[in-house]
Amino acid sequence: MHYFVPKRCASTSKIMYHDKVTAQRAAEQSYIDRGTQLWTYRCQYCGCWHLTSHEPGSYLPSPANRQQRQRSRKRGYKPRRR
Ligand SMILES: [Zn+2]
Repeated sequence: MHYFVPKRCASTSKIMYHDKVTAQRAAEQSYIDRGTQLWTYRCQYCGCWHLTSHEPGSYLPSPANRQQRQRSRKRGYKPRRR
C-alpha cells in the first residue's frame, strides 16, 4: 500500500495542488476536520495552488487589474430564427 506524499513548494513550503478543485477540496476537508476556514490561491513562484488561512482580496488591487473588463452575464438569449 502506498500513500500519497504531497509535494511542497520550495518557496513557501506549502503543499502544492495542481488544480484549484483539488485545493478547494482540501480546504473543505480542513473545515470539516478542524473547523479551519482556508482559501485557495495560485502561487506566483511554483504556479500551483496553495491553501491559506488569510482571506484573499485583502491586498490592494494593482492598477493593471483594474483594467479588467467586467463581463456581464449573457442576458438576452436570442432565439435562432429558422
Ligand atoms: Zn508555491
